[in-house]
Amino acid sequence: MLWRSIVVLNEVNTFFGTHTAEGYSVLTRGNLPDSIKIIGKHFLKKAIDKIFPPDIPVSHRDKGKLYGLMRSDQQFNLYWGDLHGHSSLSTEAVGSPDEYYDYARTSRKLDFVALTDHDYSMTPAKWRIIRDKAAEYYQPGVFVTFIAYEWTSHFGHKVVLFGSTEVPETIMVRARTDEANPHALWQFLDQYQALTIPHHTLSFQVTTDWSYQNNVLQPLVEIYSKHGSCEFPGSPPVPYKISSTPGKSVIDALNAGHRLGFIGCSDTHCSKPGSEKSMELLTHRLVLKYQSGLTGIYAENLTRPKIWAALLARRTFATTGVRLFLDFRIGDHFMGEQFSTHSAQTIAVWVEAPAPIELLEIVKNGLVFYSENPNDLSTSLALKDAASEPGTCYYYLRLTLQDGHRAWSSPIWVDYV
Ligand SMILES: [Zn+2]
Ligand SMILES: [Zn+2]
Repeated sequence: MLWRSIVVLNEVNTFFGTHTAEGYSVLTRGNLPDSIKIIGKHFLKKAIDKIFPPDIPVSHRDKGKLYGLMRSDQQFNLYWGDLHGHSSLSTEAVGSPDEYYDYARTSRKLDFVALTDHDYSMTPAKWRIIRDKAAEYYQPGVFVTFIAYEWTSHFGHKVVLFGSTEVPETIMVRARTDEANPHALWQFLDQYQALTIPHHTLSFQVTTDWSYQNNVLQPLVEIYSKHGSCEFPGSPPVPYKISSTPGKSVIDALNAGHRLGFIGCSDTHCSKPGSEKSMELLTHRLVLKYQSGLTGIYAENLTRPKIWAALLARRTFATTGVRLFLDFRIGDHFMGEQFSTHSAQTIAVWVEAPAPIELLEIVKNGLVFYSENPNDLSTSLALKDAASEPGTCYYYLRLTLQDGHRAWSSPIWVDYV
């Protein structure tokens, strides 16, 4: 039997499940192999009871050690965060940057966060505050911050995230000209460690212009936020405002050849990243109806460079705010990866959720390719796509829990040759 550690329980890297060509089997108290027994049953019971922390934060010290992925010599822990939200540095938002960071770190026990105030509100003094606060709150191993802002052009809104402290003295802000397009933004950002993340792509007055493509500087899309889901028009939870222009959804972008991993965020305008509260009413026109999304990231450790590497690798998944464990692989490839193959590889899924999984769907090229109703807190499966033909396909996992929460793995791109 081929052993792979799937769920990392503690510092000694004890594992908890098997992964073979046929798929996963989850260990229970009843079928422990000897290698597990040596750590003591009392510890394992504690670990099993903890594996699904109820959707309440656990201490920083324990986080990341509860779940993980392993492949040959690589090991990744699961961390949670929110990469999109606003403080009073944005004209129509409230709450100080300190409140923003403190809420993420203390109230929601997030592992990483970005404060992304609007470009049109930014002054040199505010940009200095953004940089200083990101530095002040960054604690390697405990809490990761990013210097960031939001670019709000009429080509669509994008979070601009920097992977280091080497950032421009003045940012590129929106302009109402055709020259100030995403290509110009990417050109401006090219000399920095930077990436852009489009958001509310179909759900707001400003939709995303997907004719601009850059799979290097734009490896991710925000599929869900307090606005709702942008997966496809009508995808629940449905945004308060939805564009009638076709071709704006995340699936439209993937079908057009964008290679985008998924993240879930808040877009809070009340300095409450990761908030469980549903409604935010703002001064003018904007109603944020839903709970904050969250992003799960599989990273080597909780430092800015490793979280950054995981973002670039699209080793991310999005949820409507629930914390769960999700492993989606094709062959030996994690979510977010791309590879070529001559033959169909095993598509393997393992999910552990805090509420019963009502619907599990595998989406292929925008359409449901496989679905089942596990009606259980835990599920695993393995299957092959017998219909694979030469060409590129993308696959991702979509989950709906009985309590209404949803989750999406980043896609995996397979080039069948
Ligand atoms: Zn926006
Ligand atoms: Zn925003």
